[in-house]
Amino acid sequence: MTPNFSAPLSTYFTLSDKKLALFEKAGVKTLGELLLHLPLRYEDRSHLTPIADLKHETYALVHAEVVDSRVSFSRRKMLHITVQDSSGARLYLRYFHFFASQPKQFVAGRWGLFYAKAQAGAYGMEFHHPEIQWLNGAQLPELSEHLLAVYSTVSGLSQKDWRKLIAQALVLVKPLAVKDVLVVRGYLSFYQALEQLHRPQYSLDEAQLAKARERLIVEELCAHQLSIALARAYRSRLQAPKIRIDTQALQRFEQSLSFELTKAQRRVFAEITQDLTRSQPMMRLIQGDVGSGKTIVALLAALSVIYAGYQAVLMVPTELLAEQHAQNIQRLLQGQSIQVAVLVSKMPAAKKRATLQAVTSGEVQLIIGTHAVFQAQVQYHNLALIMIDEQHRFGVHQRLALQDKSVAEQAVHQLVLTATPIPRTLAMSVYGELDISVIDELPAGRKPIHTSVISASRREALIERVGENCRQGRQAYWVCPLIEESEVLECENAQAIAQMLQACLPDIKVGLVHGRLAQQERYAVMQAFIKNEIALLVATTVIEVGVDVANASLMIIENAERFGLAQLHQLRGRVGRGAQQSYCVLMYQAPLGEVARQRLEVMRESNDGFVIAQEDLNIRGGGELLGTRQTGAKLFKVADLERDAMLLPKIAQYTQEWLMENQAFVEILLARWAAGKMRYLQS
Ligand code: ADP
Ligand code: MG
Repeated sequence: MTPNFSAPLSTYFTLSDKKLALFEKAGVKTLGELLLHLPLRYEDRSHLTPIADLKHETYALVHAEVVDSRVSFSRRKMLHITVQDSSGARLYLRYFHFFASQPKQFVAGRWGLFYAKAQAGAYGMEFHHPEIQWLNGAQLPELSEHLLAVYSTVSGLSQKDWRKLIAQALVLVKPLAVKDVLVVRGYLSFYQALEQLHRPQYSLDEAQLAKARERLIVEELCAHQLSIALARAYRSRLQAPKIRIDTQALQRFEQSLSFELTKAQRRVFAEITQDLTRSQPMMRLIQGDVGSGKTIVALLAALSVIYAGYQAVLMVPTELLAEQHAQNIQRLLQGQSIQVAVLVSKMPAAKKRATLQAVTSGEVQLIIGTHAVFQAQVQYHNLALIMIDEQHRFGVHQRLALQDKSVAEQAVHQLVLTATPIPRTLAMSVYGELDISVIDELPAGRKPIHTSVISASRREALIERVGENCRQGRQAYWVCPLIEESEVLECENAQAIAQMLQACLPDIKVGLVHGRLAQQERYAVMQAFIKNEIALLVATTVIEVGVDVANASLMIIENAERFGLAQLHQLRGRVGRGAQQSYCVLMYQAPLGEVARQRLEVMRESNDGFVIAQEDLNIRGGGELLGTRQTGAKLFKVADLERDAMLLPKIAQYTQEWLMENQAFVEILLARWAAGKMRYLQS
């Protein structure tokens, strides 16, 4: 039987619930995800190194006997062990932290295998916190024949856990060492590639590992292109409402705005109206830098369908953003008889019931909310347009799933708005099933934000500057450090920073928003900030997307080196929205590594999201733009579009060929790489 890649681990392996939960935490729920959890690096434990031959900064396996053990108490408690090998050469083991029971195992005369990276120390070579395998006497056990794979893991799951389970999984897929179409073209088989990457032979060299990786990269890129092709085909079979555009009403609305649309906004909106008049559903991506005015274009799209008698929904990533969009939009819609409703998960029950009812009856025409807008309980009256704001982390599968959820009988038009600037060629490969429009122009009169990079040691002077800024009637943001592992810690830390700032600046009104604040509270704080009742807003990254307060002209970002560049650019985009000169201060914790320094330098020098994205790629070689540092859920597992760009023509050729004459292989690839996500493509 062919193994089912999308089956949960429990189908094939006997694991405790606790272990299952840990694997899930590490991002591995299915057989496919396990097999494609590729090693970070390899360790060579296939041969011993005599202590006399140890090299600084090089991993080695040493066979030696304990000769001395002692705990020192100078400055801090440390455990020092001396071992010697059969030649009599000595090696020093150092433990900078250890359990009370740990020293006891180092009995003089006991033999073991010690593995670590050697460090040149004051008395000779040292191992810090080595891995140890204790032996019975001096007899040497059989050494591993393989290089050992080292996996990214979570606390509670050892490297042995990974190696053991993956070895079992490899047995399951061994029948897949078949001569498929890729093998015929000279690639390794899928099984061989996995086997080599997880359990490389000792002699295996980089070129061979690269060959194994290439098989998987080609598969993954092909699977992605196939998903896109099938999504396009699927879309062409769907019927969405043809919208009759009420040009006059739209013009009246445009005239009511306090500004002129930019040429780019006009062009993009024209592209949208073209799409809406067709029965094939629109699937369009609007790319536009922060502040380029995507919201108004989305609103025009919404009005186009609303004037024609349909509903539109705008989905945003956070409740805060839903509220703010609703407020702004309601202000813009003043004098029109259009009902706008906010729909989020945490709403008072009575209010939610009433809102749902109004959505079902058609009383409400524009719905703004979080993913709550697509929950099963929401029945739309006649939805024609879905807009997704700032969801640059959505993959092709999620976008299609939305199409599925929206309305049963009829497809809807879709508009995706993103501020993540992706170079065009990459965008085509990522968002291939979407048509792309770019707003490549900022509204006139914007002053570029002035950015500086300073060390956290100058925090006090900075606080003074913030105080001065606020006393002059302008507002400021203070963005707290990102703590990826724990939202709780992040919020507590933000609280402490807010208190500290309030204590330093008693005459300034300081506010605080973070992700764990109750909705009403957060709302109240944001309202107060918008009304300038709060001068200094301390915030976690909940303000990252969308929030718009024109009087805020100064932003401080703490531990800027921990953020991704795309994220810093988004954050910084919260200032520079009004007429006055705006400033952004990137504070870092010294010492700053070379790459981190270069990255902050890019932020200092450029205000252009596309330039920043390109530089980011150049410095780091990709991975962050399209991936998601915050959640770890990357778009690709093995491939990297930038690095692997030269493969794309070949990928296009393969996929076209298989779609024509090898449906079976198409299905195999999709099952491997998009397992469980292609349900809606089947009809
Ligand atoms: P983003 O593209 O980052 O979502 P927004 O849609 O929030 O940008 O727009 C940023 C600000 O610019 C808003 O205050 C909006 O009202 C304003 N704006 C949008 N279009 C124009 C324009 N053509 N001229 C002047 N201001 C504009
Ligand atoms: Mg926006």
